[in-house]
Amino acid sequence: MIVSDDLPLSRADIDRAAHRRTEADVLATALRTSSTRILLVRGGSVGTTPEESIAFRSAAEVAHLPHADAAEPDADWLFLGEDGDGVTYLARRVPEPEPLPLTGGPSDVLVHNRAEAEPAGWTSLRMLGASLDGSEAGLATTAVALDAWHDRHVRCPRCGAATRVQQAGWTRVCVVDGSEHYPRTDPAVIMAVVDDDDRILLGHAAAWAPGRWSTLAGFVESGESLEHAVRREVLEETGVVVGDVSYRGSQPWPFPASLMLGFRAAALSTDVTVDGVELAEARWFSRAELASAVAGGDVVPPGRASIARALVEEWFGGPL
Ligand SMILES: [Zn+2]
Repeated sequence: MIVSDDLPLSRADIDRAAHRRTEADVLATALRTSSTRILLVRGGSVGTTPEESIAFRSAAEVAHLPHADAAEPDADWLFLGEDGDGVTYLARRVPEPEPLPLTGGPSDVLVHNRAEAEPAGWTSLRMLGASLDGSEAGLATTAVALDAWHDRHVRCPRCGAATRVQQAGWTRVCVVDGSEHYPRTDPAVIMAVVDDDDRILLGHAAAWAPGRWSTLAGFVESGESLEHAVRREVLEETGVVVGDVSYRGSQPWPFPASLMLGFRAAALSTDVTVDGVELAEARWFSRAELASAVAGGDVVPPGRASIARALVEEWFGGPL
C-alpha cells in the first residue's frame, strides 16, 4: 500500500493546465466566463460553506473584496486549473482584516475590523482536510500554498526590490534585476520507526496538548538525501539508530510550504533518549498497547487527514 493514495490532502483531480498560465488574458477570460469557480483564500484558510465544504463564488460575488495591493489587482488571483468539463478554477487572495485601534481603550489594545463584508466563512486547511473531496483538497492545498508563498516573497531575495506577480500567480519577477522566483516547497521527512519486535516509535512534543502522540518528523537539511534525513532526525530526537528506510508516500503540507515525505524506517537499536526540549517523550508501542491507549483516551493519535495517521495505521494494519 502506498499511503498517499488514501490521504485526503494528497488527492488532486483538477488539471493544473500549466500551459495556460502564460496566456496574457487567462485571468481576464476566466473572470468574464460565468462558469468560472472562485475559491477564497486568506492566511492558511479558505472560504467555506456552513457545512465546511469550499464555497465557490462567481467573479461578480467577489468583485467588492479588498485588494492586497490596489496598484496590482492581478496579484490577487491564482490560476488553479480546469476540470474535464472545461470549468476554470481560480483562487482570490483576500487580505487579512486590518487591525484597528480600539477607540477609548488603552492604546495597546487592538481589535480586528469585523465590519468588512465577507461572502463566506473561513476554515483553516488544517481543520478542513479530512472533509474535502479529492478535487477540493487539491484546489485548497494549492491555493493555501501559493497564497503563503506570495505573502513571504513580495521582495526580491537577491536585491530587496519589489517583485511583481506573473504567470497568473505562479511566478514573481524582480522589478530591478528581472530575476524570476517560483513557489517554494520545503521537503520534510516523516517516519514510522519500527523495531524488530514490530513495535512503533511515537513521540510527544513539548508544545503539544497532553496525550497527543505522533510519528517523528523533521526538515531535510541542505545537501542531505531523504534517507540521511530520516536517520539523522530519528537519532537526534530519540537516540535510536535506523537502518533500512523505505518510501511510503507523500502529502502536501502547506503550513506554510512543506511537502511531507513518508517513510517506514527499521530500528537497529531500541534505547530511547529524548532531549526534553523539542520532544518531551518518546516510547515504543506494540499494537495492543497503542489500541488500548487510544481506546482509554491516554493517546490521541494524529489527525485523520494526516500522513502521520496513515503511516501509523499502515503499521497498525487498519483504522485506529
Ligand atoms: Zn532583485
